[in-house]
Amino acid sequence: MGLGGNVPATEETNGDYLNCPNCGGQLDNHLAVNTGELFKPAPGDIGICWYCGSRNMIDGEGRLVELDKETETRLSEHEKNLLQQAWERWNEKQSIRGS
Ligand SMILES: [Zn+2]
Repeated sequence: MGLGGNVPATEETNGDYLNCPNCGGQLDNHLAVNTGELFKPAPGDIGICWYCGSRNMIDGEGRLVELDKETETRLSEHEKNLLQQAWERWNEKQSIRGS
């Protein structure tokens, strides 16, 4: 699986967004955890919702779905670490924003 441990970020709108399955938030830009660069999410990528912190993944049809327990248990340690990093980064940003 091409899991990238990527975290979505939202700054600009280009009309090409994904909806968070948990909160419905529109996620249009996606920031890669490992490189800090914007990228286009591909099936199998995992990430954190910018708005609610939900752990999501891209399914085979390019839709954003919640990361299920079964998939989570199949993640490698490296992928789990990336996801944890992404969540911590999200948590940090939320506290800076104070919302
Ligand atoms: Zn969300």
